[in-house]
Amino acid sequence: MKQFMRFLMRRIPRPILLRLSYIFRFFIVRFYKGNQLECPVCETQFRKMLPYGINSRENAMCPKCLSLERHRLIWLYLQNKTNIFTGKNKMLHIAPEQCFLGRFKKLEKLDYTTGDLFSPLADVKMDVHDIPFDDNTFDIVFCNHVLEHVTDDHKAMSEICRVLKPGGWAMLQSPKDPKLKVTKEDPSITDPWEREREFGQKDHVRMYGDDYAARMAKAGFKVIEDQTVFELGEKYKYYSLLPGEILYVGVKPN
Ligand SMILES: [Zn+2]
Repeated sequence: MKQFMRFLMRRIPRPILLRLSYIFRFFIVRFYKGNQLECPVCETQFRKMLPYGINSRENAMCPKCLSLERHRLIWLYLQNKTNIFTGKNKMLHIAPEQCFLGRFKKLEKLDYTTGDLFSPLADVKMDVHDIPFDDNTFDIVFCNHVLEHVTDDHKAMSEICRVLKPGGWAMLQSPKDPKLKVTKEDPSITDPWEREREFGQKDHVRMYGDDYAARMAKAGFKVIEDQTVFELGEKYKYYSLLPGEILYVGVKPN
């Protein structure tokens, strides 16, 4: 099963994989039924979750809503530490994650806009280097797993900070190598295989290191390195989260 999933994940483009999984989801959810693990996003329990990733991480993907570890951690953060589900907020969601999209859309008080450079499903076609909104427009911006793809991440982070209202906040998760002190980037590396070797994926242009929070601060944010995963104690296993994963939340100073 693990080998088969690994083969599928590497060979089939993710959009097709997502579509396939929606078709077979009914059967997959039944097959994985149990009470050992819970996905907080779709509030469903399973005996195990699906393996996912280049190195095929066990229990990574929720069989029902297809959330990954980071999505489940973000969701717990939203539930426990924000007013996103109850407050009146204006939100921009850049490159929206499928498992969040429909759930955010359903929130009556949330004034919700999606933006993407490529996806025809997004409300606004936009480049994160040049966000087509006025200063101080949004209470919340989500921009996860985008900054490792963009040419100028300082410009992109500055743009996100610019469109936030003072006191507003952004969720800015990016892949990070805990062994790297300083972010590794080299624009001369354009070969996809070399990029995968150096930065972890064929379309990544950098791998972030311990200076990630400092880079956010340089773009104007007050940075919160959220410790939700530690605060959960052993329960992080029940939600099948990655041990030690920090959430990077950038607050625009008042
Ligand atoms: Zn789920």
